[in-house]
Amino acid sequence: MMPSPSCSTILRLEGLPEIEAIPSARRKRTISLGIQDDGRITVRFPTRMKIEDAENFVCLKAEWLKRKIAAFRQDPRTHEPQDFYNGKTLPYLGQYFRMRLVEKNEGTDHKEVSFTGDEFILPEGLKEDARDAFLAWYKGASRNILASAIERYSPILNVRPDAIKVSGAKSRWGSCSAKDTLNFSWRIAALPQDIIDYIVVHELAHLKHKNHGPLFWNTVASVIEDYKRRNRWLKDHVGRFFI
Ligand SMILES: [Zn+2]
Repeated sequence: MMPSPSCSTILRLEGLPEIEAIPSARRKRTISLGIQDDGRITVRFPTRMKIEDAENFVCLKAEWLKRKIAAFRQDPRTHEPQDFYNGKTLPYLGQYFRMRLVEKNEGTDHKEVSFTGDEFILPEGLKEDARDAFLAWYKGASRNILASAIERYSPILNVRPDAIKVSGAKSRWGSCSAKDTLNFSWRIAALPQDIIDYIVVHELAHLKHKNHGPLFWNTVASVIEDYKRRNRWLKDHVGRFFI
């Protein structure tokens, strides 16, 4: 599907400053509302969506937005940049790598985020939707990492998950459902491999024991001897790798 040319509209809503509504062909369902580094307020929404829906979204978030604007005006330095500027660093397997913006004519024909082994490449055309583009990349990377870890550890534990899901969970790295589906956060790709292994073994062990009793921990320890260190590492680094 070719992205259609987008043009922005200015929304004027009661009690709020002007908001730039930008339709985006790359967005499927999500809407994002935020303050840009230069102070502009933008709402990005899928081209398929009606602008009224984006407007309703802004109205629902009005109080939140007002607080954000007040904080930004008070001290713009506290503002977390939404921009994926050239040279920004992002985590992958426990290390940080620089992101490079490339233009189409730089000999590349990338239509998505890629990783060369020592840097991330973001095609210039995706800059406006960089967060979504990176989310897609992290999801894919997490799926691959998880697939190989599960392939490695499930025969050792003699278990087989019914299904693997990669979601946007923020509060947990992984979870196991009553129906033996393992859920993992797409942020997992940011973590060091030994920590990912621990998370995978932890969730696989839940296929045997749906609790955190002694039998559960014995099972984890039978595969990951130093699981306590890795568990502690996770607790110490909470929120550190949120992208
Ligand atoms: Zn658990």
